Amino acid sequence: MTSSTSTPQPFPDDWRRALVLVAHPDDPEYGMAAAVAKWTTAGREVGYALACRGEAGIAGMAPGDAGPLREAEQRRAAALVGVHDLQFWDFPDSAIRDTPALRARIGATLVETAPQMVLCGYGGPEFGPGQPNQRDHIEFAAAVTAAYDALDHPPRWLFQQSPEPSHIEIVDDFTEVAVAALAAHEQYLTVLDPQTPVAQQARQVIDMVAPPHPDTGARVVGFTRVR
Ligand SMILES: [Zn+2]
Repeated sequence: MTSSTSTPQPFPDDWRRALVLVAHPDDPEYGMAAAVAKWTTAGREVGYALACRGEAGIAGMAPGDAGPLREAEQRRAAALVGVHDLQFWDFPDSAIRDTPALRARIGATLVETAPQMVLCGYGGPEFGPGQPNQRDHIEFAAAVTAAYDALDHPPRWLFQQSPEPSHIEIVDDFTEVAVAALAAHEQYLTVLDPQTPVAQQARQVIDMVAPPHPDTGARVVGFTRVR
């Protein structure tokens, strides 16, 4: 839909309800949460639906322990940016595939929740040179697009978070709460990188995923319009 050479447009603001669809706990906190905080502060409703509980995501911890822990951390992270409506679907973490069952679940959820705006995580092959995306993310995003396209009356918009955005949301006042939301994944981040304090890890990520706009210096989160 776009190329990195075109100037991104402002993200649409004439909608009331959004659904964020992601593969794993912590996916919304890699940038999108800053925009979500802005939207909920403005009185919009945002819900999250997650394909799994992230049960395979903590090295050395049994899935039966990691799943509930990561769900709880995700709920705390979401609450910090004004999201209290979360669904966890229990597709298998690290084996999320673009299956008919996943597409059916996505489609049914879009019909039930009837958002005007649908957002999902980045589904491209790499975030940048030498930074490959995870297969779970790629397959999940493909399933979202397929499920959207199969609806008779799809939501008005479908966006993906994107390193080469067609649209940007300015999040100047919401980067601190985004850092706090990512840091809410405390045990996950502690195990991921035991050497770096969780708050520092979170700040580094938000500085990377919501960088200053090259012309204006505004902090922005980028999305690409898929439909
Ligand atoms: Zn993920």
